[in-house]
Amino acid sequence: MIVILKEHPDERQMQHLLDWLKEKHIEVHPTVGAHQTILGLIGDTSSVDIDLISALDIVEDVKRVQEPYKNANRKFHPSDTVISVGGTQIGGGSLTLMAGPCSVESEEQIIGIARAVKAAGATVLRGGAFKPRTSPYAFQGMQIEGIRLLLKAREATGLPICTEIMDASQLPLFEDIDILQVGARNMQNFSLLKALGKTRKPVLLKRGMACSYQDLLMSAEYILAGGNPNVILCERGIRTFETYTRNTLDLACIPSLKTLSHLPVVIDPSHATGRSALVPSMALAAAAAGADGLIIEVHNDPPHAKCDGPQSITPAAFEELAGKLRAVREALQ
Ligand code: PEP
Ligand code: MN
Repeated sequence: MIVILKEHPDERQMQHLLDWLKEKHIEVHPTVGAHQTILGLIGDTSSVDIDLISALDIVEDVKRVQEPYKNANRKFHPSDTVISVGGTQIGGGSLTLMAGPCSVESEEQIIGIARAVKAAGATVLRGGAFKPRTSPYAFQGMQIEGIRLLLKAREATGLPICTEIMDASQLPLFEDIDILQVGARNMQNFSLLKALGKTRKPVLLKRGMACSYQDLLMSAEYILAGGNPNVILCERGIRTFETYTRNTLDLACIPSLKTLSHLPVVIDPSHATGRSALVPSMALAAAAAGADGLIIEVHNDPPHAKCDGPQSITPAAFEELAGKLRAVREALQ
């Protein structure tokens, strides 16, 4: 349920309302906007009489929220969530470029790519240290050494780091990481989501390959309900009957998720297509559709990449793409 207050509500009456809701064990999440304050009520609101609240002088309107996700709901929080990380902002209309190799392979590789993508306009370095591979025999990432090299790349370039966490027990290893990625395969790892809810670290939450928008928003809700407001939604393609592309990129998710939720929406055209030749056009389409950011796999030597080479673009291709992305965003403004 949401309660929309009139402008400048009487403080005594407001406190009275809050006390009354507290007695009913209802959690209240206020959102204070420039002209309006919205109280999001979470809990068993079946005993809350809408007419009684509507009749209060300070109340403009009361609405029941049907969707099971509350904190993630645009109705609870009408303005866009903007997440500040390492001098860059994600959400609210900017197009954040996150780029880097699927996996960290060496100090020279990660620092070289970090410098190149930064020069081209990326403001977040993304690289995998722990890799969730389909095969247990495939390269599993450099792991702790990979984290150390990512931190070295941050030191060298100033770029904040985004890397994937696979399990709640790994949290202490990620203390210095700026953005924690939850991979598609872990989108419904609820114990991980709960643990992330207890931190205040930005979380890039990837959509599971067979998950609906509501599933994704419910997973975001786990993190938000724990008290961590810094969630970024990421579409990385879903499984369909098409086999030419690795996955099927669902670009309708951008306007859909932005209607349903206030959280930033980032698109990953690399995993969505699995083909480097398709990455630029899908990235441009995502930018045109209003994505808040892109996460793109960039490798200095794609044919020899230890992971996801066929979908990785070169630093030169990334630079060319970044220029076109700026032109798309300018054309839309
Ligand atoms: C990745 O980002 O390298 C990755 C494994 O992504 P996803 O979880 O989307 O498959
Ligand atoms: Mn990858």
